[in-house]
Amino acid sequence: MLNIAIAGVAGRMGRTLIQAVVNASQDGIHLTGAVQRPGSSLLAVDAGELVGIGRINVSVVASVDQADFDLLIDFTTIDSTLANLEYCLANGKAMVIGTTGFSDSEKQTLACAGDSIAIVLAANMSVGMNLCFHLLKQMSEVLAADSDIEIIETHHRHKVDSPSGTALRLGEVIADTLGRDLNEVAVYGREGIARPRDRETIGFATIRGGDVVGDHTVLFASEGERVELTHKASSRMTFAKGAVRAAIWLADKPAGCYDMQDVLGLRADAL
Ligand code: NAD
Repeated sequence: MLNIAIAGVAGRMGRTLIQAVVNASQDGIHLTGAVQRPGSSLLAVDAGELVGIGRINVSVVASVDQADFDLLIDFTTIDSTLANLEYCLANGKAMVIGTTGFSDSEKQTLACAGDSIAIVLAANMSVGMNLCFHLLKQMSEVLAADSDIEIIETHHRHKVDSPSGTALRLGEVIADTLGRDLNEVAVYGREGIARPRDRETIGFATIRGGDVVGDHTVLFASEGERVELTHKASSRMTFAKGAVRAAIWLADKPAGCYDMQDVLGLRADAL
């Protein structure tokens, strides 16, 4: 039996994750910890009652050291995830991390933690989007020479980081495939009078509004045709199910920093 704690249970993803973990109890996983930020009015509330599925005898606590678990699923904020990482490192706990917005040096910290504990880190845990990452490599190889590449993403009005972690990951996949450095070729938004577009660049456009769960399009625009790869998430349950799948997959893995391509067996050398 794999004991799981969820960090950020009062959040949009945290609430969905409670349901996803409880729904997967027949797969040998058990929710034993529910963590919310200190000071929350929801501390001590039963996690099942929090999401309307009835009592599950797991009370919401204010920090991971008050929870009993083997693996932490963390969809919170950068500061909170990095603090939880320190606890998991010190106590040999595995982590599935869905939080987005990490800087390059913070990503390096997470990768280094993989020397000691097992981690799945993925900016997007949906199966469909991870297939898109895979397809995008082939599209980039075939289309990039003659195309301008733009990434357009739309999210709900509460999202704090932009571009989304998924949009940046899409950019990284394209840049890595083409041997470009995303830090050098990314263009984040445009305004005013500019020179004609440089073909080597990868443009990002961010839209924020309403309750959009997450839409991403990669546009390859050339003279005479456009090719678009689009993914639209209509429910957070798609990310939560992916996180649960990652947790079950990670349970018997050695220390390492993995991503959803590993979980889903989509890594090029695994196909
Ligand atoms: P949210 O703001 O609704 O939820 C975050 C929750 O974390 C809040 O309840 C907040 O109070 C809580 N929190 C903050 N500090 C905490 C602490 N120290 N201890 C415990 N809880 C703490 O945000 P959300 O929409 O649920 O998204 C959370 C993160 O997950 C974001 O970074 C988002 O981009 C990311 N996300 C990732 C995926 C994916 O597939 N990887 C999908 C959706 C969202």
